[in-house]
Amino acid sequence: MKSKELFNEAKKYLSGGVDSPVRAFKPYPFFAKKALGSHIQDMDGKEYIDYCLAYGPLILGHSNPGIVDAVKKQLELGSTYGVPTQKEIQLAKLVTSRVPCADMVRFVNSGTEATMSAIRLARAVTGRKKIVKFEGSYHGAHDYVLVKSGSGAMGLPDSPGVPEETTKNTILIPFNDVEAVEDLIVNQGEDIATIIVEPVMGNVGCIPPKEGYLEFLRRITSDNGIILIFDEVITGFRLAEGGAQEYYGVTPDLVTFGKILGGGFPIGALSGKKEYMERIAPSGDVYQAGTFNGNPISVTAGIEALEQLDKKFYTELEKKGEYMRRAIGDILEEQDLNYKVVGLASMFQIYFTDRDVYDYQDAKTANTGNFDAYFHELLDNGVFIPPSQFECCFISLKHSTYDLDSTLNAIEEALKK
Ligand SMILES: *Cc1c(COP(=O)(O)O)cnc(C)c1O
Repeated sequence: MKSKELFNEAKKYLSGGVDSPVRAFKPYPFFAKKALGSHIQDMDGKEYIDYCLAYGPLILGHSNPGIVDAVKKQLELGSTYGVPTQKEIQLAKLVTSRVPCADMVRFVNSGTEATMSAIRLARAVTGRKKIVKFEGSYHGAHDYVLVKSGSGAMGLPDSPGVPEETTKNTILIPFNDVEAVEDLIVNQGEDIATIIVEPVMGNVGCIPPKEGYLEFLRRITSDNGIILIFDEVITGFRLAEGGAQEYYGVTPDLVTFGKILGGGFPIGALSGKKEYMERIAPSGDVYQAGTFNGNPISVTAGIEALEQLDKKFYTELEKKGEYMRRAIGDILEEQDLNYKVVGLASMFQIYFTDRDVYDYQDAKTANTGNFDAYFHELLDNGVFIPPSQFECCFISLKHSTYDLDSTLNAIEEALKK
């Protein structure tokens, strides 16, 4: 069956024909058959250079041979045990040796679970209720943070089914705005348990912090007894070995991971200073549990992924990203388009707006109709980027110069049209 028929069939059995909303692009999404390196092939026999990369996990490209081998070996030994394994220690050591704030780790199954548990821990540690998040930031699909989230939810910032009692302690402020944080802390500082932040916002396109902004958040949270959580589900092991906290030199109290950490398999993790992490059950009183926590398949893939991700690799990715952003900038200039090319390291996006994008309100000025046309033009020409203006394109180690140059040609043609 081809993608079009599969989608019609899928709509009968799966809500909306997909298992996560952003995947349901119009008129129908292509269905995957297989993928290798920088390329993904669909059921219609068409191949695409992939910049969606499963929305983040595949920094080593699809079907990385080292990961495939390691997982095959582990599969023969069992897929899940319900008792601990040596490999969990091994992966925890890889995390704590790289990530500045990480003394100890709790592995969970998704980024959503990681932020949910991190928020619970922050509330327990401080004995305070309120949490602060930034407009347009995405911390997964759980109730406490499903307020003006990014991630395809741009037109649907909240969700029915989330009682206002649940979100009344969630405070929203604009990103990159110093005064908004200061005002908030003057008025309610003593009630705030945590500020949770994506150090680089990756679910409303790509919005880096203004210079000094993360340092500012670090200072003001420390001064007011507030736990600073970096949600590094995207930036972790992407911007540097130690994630955004290494890249920007700012150390939070707690950090959440997902995506890259699982090497293409489902995982999440919560990590931070020992004094906080020891509050988690069973060493402490803050409950957190999961049947598949520390799953040996995901942990095996994660170990293999992190072992491959050394310093040299990040320099190479930075170069590829820089190359793409500069070339796209040149194309925009040549065509007299005042759109914004943004990003850093292996992340890039074009905002279809003439406004510089520092926060959610700026991002919302983008012309999504034009983005949509651009997306489909690229798709027709064998380039797959995330189907939303409010996602981010990723480059993997497997993207060759040839891949990048043919993509740039496709981008040039698409923008012309
Ligand atoms: C993807 C993402 C999450 C949610 O992770 P899941 O594994 O999809 O639950 C949380 N935070 C950020 C910053 C993300 O990008």
